[in-house]
Amino acid sequence: MAKPATIFWHRRDLRISDNAGLYHALKAGGPVLPIFIFDRNILDKLPSQQDARVTFIHDSLGDLAQAYRAYGSDLRVYYGFPLEIWAQLRDELRPRAVYTNRDYEPYALERDRAVADLLSLRDISFRTFKDHVIFESEEVQKKAGGPYTVFTPYMRTWRQRLESRMVDHAGKPLSYYLKPYPTERYTTYLLQESAPYPIPSLEAMGFERTEIDLPPPAEKTSLLSQYDKQRDYPAVEGTTRWGHHLRHGTVSVRNRARLAQSTNDTLLGELIWRDFYSNILQAFPHVATGNYRKAYDHIPWLNDEEHFERWCEGRTGVPIVDAGMRQLNATGFMHNRIRMIVASYLTKHLLIDWRLGEKYFADKLLCYELASNNGGWQWAAGGGVDAQPYFRIFNFDSQQRKFDKDYRYVKRWVAEYGTDAYPAEPIVPYKFGRERALSVYKQALAEARNTE
Ligand SMILES: Cc1cc2nc3c(=O)[nH]c(=O)nc-3n(C[C@H](O)[C@H](O)[C@H](O)COP(=O)(O)OP(=O)(O)OC[C@H]3O[C@@H](n4cnc5c(N)ncnc54)[C@H](O)[C@@H]3O)c2cc1C
Repeated sequence: MAKPATIFWHRRDLRISDNAGLYHALKAGGPVLPIFIFDRNILDKLPSQQDARVTFIHDSLGDLAQAYRAYGSDLRVYYGFPLEIWAQLRDELRPRAVYTNRDYEPYALERDRAVADLLSLRDISFRTFKDHVIFESEEVQKKAGGPYTVFTPYMRTWRQRLESRMVDHAGKPLSYYLKPYPTERYTTYLLQESAPYPIPSLEAMGFERTEIDLPPPAEKTSLLSQYDKQRDYPAVEGTTRWGHHLRHGTVSVRNRARLAQSTNDTLLGELIWRDFYSNILQAFPHVATGNYRKAYDHIPWLNDEEHFERWCEGRTGVPIVDAGMRQLNATGFMHNRIRMIVASYLTKHLLIDWRLGEKYFADKLLCYELASNNGGWQWAAGGGVDAQPYFRIFNFDSQQRKFDKDYRYVKRWVAEYGTDAYPAEPIVPYKFGRERALSVYKQALAEARNTE
């Protein structure tokens, strides 16, 4: 069997093109063996055997393997526990180095530390690269040092940093941080394989194929240029659906930022939010499990089980909330504005701990990213970095009037809306819920101040 000098480990970067770590691995000289591991530490915890994300990853790996085969190489796909697989690869293949792109989630950081230790016992280096974000936490810091916790000044510095390298030595425009990595130029350094490597089937890993149809990432200028005008209307297909592609790296974030830069500045702003939340998770890992603002730990959540169940199933009696939850359950996607509304309803009106909503989204969303999901939930509940203040409570009726005034979105997802089968009253009506939330949050935050 041919032996690689370097192994490249794909994780959230299921593409060859413009892949930072793969580029560096190839450029260092080959042969380079690309691999992917279906990680049982993650898969064994998934609540359902029908997980559209696993199907999406499986299909994307099929495409990736095909792309490698066109270069005479192949992607080797393993299924198991990463440490066991790495112990085996280390001893069987004896590579000089392992290259990969950085993943900032707490589990991934711990796993990568353990893999690096395991490899270092045989003097194999473990090299990691930035690929998943435009800027990492240390790259966008306050003037006086330290990470930003407020979005607007963060965004300003982010933009300045991007533009500061927009011109090369000869004065030619060069978007340094958005430059694509020309991976294809070095594909002759890929390990050549004589026979294709089979990818474990979904069934062999205990999963079933799902029929959820995932849209390709939008690229049409007509959609992108209208993004700022259409993005808030859930009945319109006006957003990019880049989420799950960015999550699994089937598109490069540099490529998407270039597209946004040339078509719609508001869209670039959303990608900056993505970097911002990733930076927050990198700089303040405690947000993964608790409130960024400790005072919010004092909120006495009601956590009514029946209310939570109704929220999950889209049976709260608030049409726009129910439509959102049913869209999520049926498609693995929910429109951003509706995410904000359902999150507000859960944490303010129902007084249910945001972590329960966060977990439900994590199980269902195809674009699930710990950093953005956590950021979105902490924003809605008020305890996050740049969260909306606790007294700003979404009025679901006025949101309905503003963003879905003819009920097109609601009617698409709540078939019985407008008939006797739909509840006449929400489980927690607007005015009552708002006043209760205001008083509970106010008291809890006052208590927190007294115990400081
Ligand atoms: C409670 C809550 C939970 C969320 N959970 C996630 C999540 O798990 N994963 C996720 O990618 N986004 C999450 N978001 C952000 C946002 O809702 C989605 O990124 C967006 O709806 C995905 O659809 P799209 O790709 O069509 O986005 P577009 O509106 O077309 O935006 C383009 C891209 O910009 C990024 N983006 C847009 N808005 C945000 C935002 N507010 N924060 C961070 N990145 C953003 C995403 O990568 C998105 O794909 C959450 C928001 C809220 C309020």
